Amino acid sequence: MPDQASLEATCRDCARPLSFHAGETQPAPCAECFDGFMRARDIEFLSSYAELGVTSRRIIAETCLRALVTESPPARKVLAMSIMEQYVQAAGDLVGLVHALRQRGRQPIMRAFLGFRLDRASALAFFQELASTPQVDVMASLGLPMPDQIASRFPSLSKGDARDLKRAIVQMLGDLSRTGEMGEGVALALAQASGEARSGAAITKQSAWLDDIGLKPNQVAAIGIDEQRRTINITAISVDEKRLQNIVSVIGAMTNISSTLIYATLTVHQERERRKKL
Ligand SMILES: [Zn+2]
Repeated sequence: MPDQASLEATCRDCARPLSFHAGETQPAPCAECFDGFMRARDIEFLSSYAELGVTSRRIIAETCLRALVTESPPARKVLAMSIMEQYVQAAGDLVGLVHALRQRGRQPIMRAFLGFRLDRASALAFFQELASTPQVDVMASLGLPMPDQIASRFPSLSKGDARDLKRAIVQMLGDLSRTGEMGEGVALALAQASGEARSGAAITKQSAWLDDIGLKPNQVAAIGIDEQRRTINITAISVDEKRLQNIVSVIGAMTNISSTLIYATLTVHQERERRKKL
């Protein structure tokens, strides 16, 4: 016999009956109203994320790289690992954003983006697809134009705005192929590092006590447990400034891609709103 509370519970917003979960006492919106609330704010969400959040990984990685130059060897290893973490996070942000833009119309962008979790399979699939799919198809799947389609897609853009958008998209396509070229090996390391609970916290200077290989003096590794395969994964990276510079530059490329994807998506939205008013 259900109790009285669950019989009387209705959506806070539309007053339709709501199935109460045990222990829930606050009035809540139903699933449809909650989706509607997010959908109505998707554009503001994207624009707010583009203002600050999107650059956060790059800012931290660049700060670590600058500090690394003057630090002592043990601290350099911590900073190097921290740069790798930002790399994994930036990739997760980008893959999540692409996923959310592709889901547009089916799911609120805010939910698809914030709920996205990068794992081995999705990271691999993403980088393989990026390397093998023509860019025109990648852009079409996101509802975005190639540079030569800007004038026809956005007739109401001023000449200057069209030029700015074109420049941004051309640069983004370059960054996209650079990111796609990072290849499977990097994607695997990325998926490994991102898929493991608490990896990053457990970093080590030497892994010979865990495996037969051990680390070179300039390497640092993250230790993570892979419960499915029942192995301990050791993701080693070298504290080589040149290599870390490359990684920070890829983080920059991924940040640029995310920014431009949002910029172009907001432009699509503006154009649609203008047409509605005509
Ligand atoms: Zn409702």
